[in-house]
Amino acid sequence: MQFCRKCIMPITRPEQVFDAEGVCDACNSVARKRDIDWSQRAAEFDAILARYRGDGARWDCIIPVSGGKDSCYQALTMRDKYGMKPLCVNHIPCELTEVGQKNLTFLRDQGFDLIQVGGNRKAYRQLVDIGFRKLGDCCWPEHIGIFTIPVRIAVEFRIPLLIWGENSQFEYGGPASRKGNNFLDRNWLEQFQMLGHRLSDAVHDGVNMRDIYFLEYPPDQQIHEVGVTGLFLGYFEPWDTERNRDLVLSLGWNRNPGGPVEGAYNDIENLDCKWIGGLHDYMKFIKFGYGRATDQLCIEIRAGRMTRSEAIDKLIASSEGQVPWKYVPDFLQFLGMSEAVFETTLDRFTNKMLFVCDDDGNLVKDAHGNLQRKFLPQPL
Ligand SMILES: [Zn+2]
Repeated sequence: MQFCRKCIMPITRPEQVFDAEGVCDACNSVARKRDIDWSQRAAEFDAILARYRGDGARWDCIIPVSGGKDSCYQALTMRDKYGMKPLCVNHIPCELTEVGQKNLTFLRDQGFDLIQVGGNRKAYRQLVDIGFRKLGDCCWPEHIGIFTIPVRIAVEFRIPLLIWGENSQFEYGGPASRKGNNFLDRNWLEQFQMLGHRLSDAVHDGVNMRDIYFLEYPPDQQIHEVGVTGLFLGYFEPWDTERNRDLVLSLGWNRNPGGPVEGAYNDIENLDCKWIGGLHDYMKFIKFGYGRATDQLCIEIRAGRMTRSEAIDKLIASSEGQVPWKYVPDFLQFLGMSEAVFETTLDRFTNKMLFVCDDDGNLVKDAHGNLQRKFLPQPL
């Protein structure tokens, strides 16, 4: 299996693009970033913000927040560096963790207003079930809600400007990475977040569209009436996760209390939802043969903080690819699902080409139910 020659990302990553030298798109974005005239982008940003900056009586922009290091950085930066008054909007994830709630409270303690939106959980449960059984991604509605709910609030509160963090297509690679996009709209959302399954398709599975109002992207007419514009902060200033982390930690933001989240390398990402850190990343692993630790180690390599061979050692030492049993009982209870159905569903989504199978073609698992991967990045 092919891995990027600069980082350790495999070719199985969805929409992965390698150049002729075997270097992935995300690694090439690092080089492209160096060629960007950042002072010109900063001037561009200033000119845009001037159109939205008010007298402080009301909010000037919406910052979609998870309470994570990056969204807290966005809120602080938009206020302290750019003189805007942000309204923070949070989509309550599938299963909010204690540290996730603490970090949202941290934001309010820093002087921000926060709206937390949690839609109808009965309907949400149906969507989690569809995500898990049909798409192999238990957090499917969460991927949608984090993008639609802030836009809903923008329309309802008539606050046209939304400031998103990094453009994941540019930072981590994808078909839109070459375009240098600076805005997020319905097309971006449908292309990169929906996994090819629209919310309206859920009607066939018994979901009533009236019960998932918050998850639907508002109609174009409302978007245009309010003039909703979503910009990526990462387009206007270079994105640096370590800078973001250091700023928020210096102000009292909380790391994951028990060390790295299951399957991850670090203790500073995906802290807000139990199932993103636990199950979602595991499902990604069985489908594509890599998980969260790989993502995080690639970021370290691209930032020049780690060599490729160090990252390989750390990947092998990480918990990536281990079944996150800790979260399974809660998850099964939430969906009313048996452990047998849970395991059969996981096996159905497992790409057998990536894992060791016996002579009969059955997946080989150890005593803890863990798979054995066939491929790991090798030192060059
Ligand atoms: Zn790479």
